[in-house]
Amino acid sequence: MLTFALLFAVSAIGSMVATAIMWPRRRTTPAAGAMTLALMGVTWWSAVKMGSVLAPTLESKLALETAIYPGVGAMVAAMFCYTNAMADRAWTLSRRTALLLVIEPVLSVVIALTNPWHHWFYASAQLIGSPPVLAPRPGWAFYAHTAYSYTLLALVIIVMVRSLVRAPRAYRRHFAWPLVAFLPPLVGNVVTVLFMKEGKTVGLTPIFFTITAAVCCWALFRQALPDLVPVAGRQILETISDAVIVIDRSWRVLDVNPAAKRLIRRLQPTTSGTIVGLSARDVLGMDWALAADSESEYVMTAADGARVDLNIRHSPLYDNSNNVIGWVLVAHDVTERNRQRHELRVTNEELRQQLLAVEQLRADLAELVTRDSLTGLHNRRYLIDVLEREVARARTGFQPLSVVMLDIDHFKRVNDRYGHAVGDEVITATAQRIVALIEEGETAARYGGEEFLLVLPGCTAERARKRAEALREMCERSPLLIGGEVVISTISAGVAESLSSDGPAALIDAADQALYVAKTLGRNRVEMARMSTATT
Ligand code: GH3
Ligand code: MG
Ligand code: MG
Repeated sequence: MLTFALLFAVSAIGSMVATAIMWPRRRTTPAAGAMTLALMGVTWWSAVKMGSVLAPTLESKLALETAIYPGVGAMVAAMFCYTNAMADRAWTLSRRTALLLVIEPVLSVVIALTNPWHHWFYASAQLIGSPPVLAPRPGWAFYAHTAYSYTLLALVIIVMVRSLVRAPRAYRRHFAWPLVAFLPPLVGNVVTVLFMKEGKTVGLTPIFFTITAAVCCWALFRQALPDLVPVAGRQILETISDAVIVIDRSWRVLDVNPAAKRLIRRLQPTTSGTIVGLSARDVLGMDWALAADSESEYVMTAADGARVDLNIRHSPLYDNSNNVIGWVLVAHDVTERNRQRHELRVTNEELRQQLLAVEQLRADLAELVTRDSLTGLHNRRYLIDVLEREVARARTGFQPLSVVMLDIDHFKRVNDRYGHAVGDEVITATAQRIVALIEEGETAARYGGEEFLLVLPGCTAERARKRAEALREMCERSPLLIGGEVVISTISAGVAESLSSDGPAALIDAADQALYVAKTLGRNRVEMARMSTATT
């Protein structure tokens, strides 16, 4: 008898320890709450049973025996809740289910406690053997209670076995260890009930609860419970907008969250209701392999023809032995982000083009203000800038610098004879002849009406004279053909070379004076300025 009492005590203490560990976690998940209640039931059952075994009289034994039933009822109801919570992670205990589950235990407890008045629970009871063992003869209420408890526990076992078979390998232990924990007491209980009539046995069930308590403690210390029902994680999965798809090694879909269901229905509206168990390639409507990168983008087409850009990340799932047993795919719809990026790129490109156009316009404008509109040569303002620069450069570099002032002879007559338009064309044609003469680094400008000024860096006066002479000769020899008219237009030129003391104004003045000499000497000729004519 003492051995039985000791076993009950061990069972009670073990399950009490497990309850204490479970207690702080009771609200984390419905399964943890149910497990806490079940362990409390076991503790109560074992403790009271120990009391019943040690009790000396028939009355005290019987009173304690009936006090077991709150523990039994709580344990059976809790196991039912635990199993439901494990099998369906979204399960919560509704008020209705809670009420239904409470009815039978309350009735049983009331009937058991009031047994002396009606004997429905135990028809009779006696003590047999030495030390004495309580041998009650069960009444109809006891059998009704037993039938109810067995039905509920049978449901529990069916659901657990089914979940165990269906669960991915990684989750199987969550169904396996409660089965291992609670099957022995159930078997023990069946044996007890069968032999109870004959008064041959002490209620064996709580002894087996020692095993229950041991397995529960082991499972708790092995950290099996904290990840039993990751409800928080599940809720995140339920609510996030990213599609989460769990697949096994053969690409079969094991689990999908609501966002994944919505995505799959968008891509493949004909997909059957369950999705779980189908091929991931089929439901996503793509022929793809898991890229080496854990993240890649796919462009897909929805059933309505809309483009869907998906960013899919995948990470492997491992079992306890570190084997890959599947993958988690997280698909993020990046269609809108990509569209905005594309729009931004287009807008940026447009802006860049506009900037380029504006820059070009600005450059054109800058160039335009330095040009003469009729001839396209540089204008007088630009020429002054260039000349200032070149004079300074020639001075520091001790390089020659010559200028040539050109003027069309008797131009008034051209205007008078052929008209102003033809006059313009003569100016333009002369400008073109000048451009042909100009070399790189040299500048030709329209200085006035039909006057031109050439700035020739690195050119001595003598060479400048020769080049002006060649131009003059060409103008003389090659009459212009304008509007059917043959126009002979000669030029006169004055050449001046910069000396170290000469400024731009003095240089122009010297060339102008040489030109004046050329005019007075009969035109159609080139004259050299006297050297060192003036200072700035
Ligand atoms: P000279 O040989 O002494 O230079 O005689 P010229 O007739 O050329 O005399 P001058 O240089 O004084 O006269 C220039 C004329 O050029 C005066 C003006 O009517 C004319 N002229 C100035 N600018 C333009 C222009 O843009 N187009 C036309 N068609 N004629 C112009
Ligand atoms: Mg003139
Ligand atoms: Mg003239």
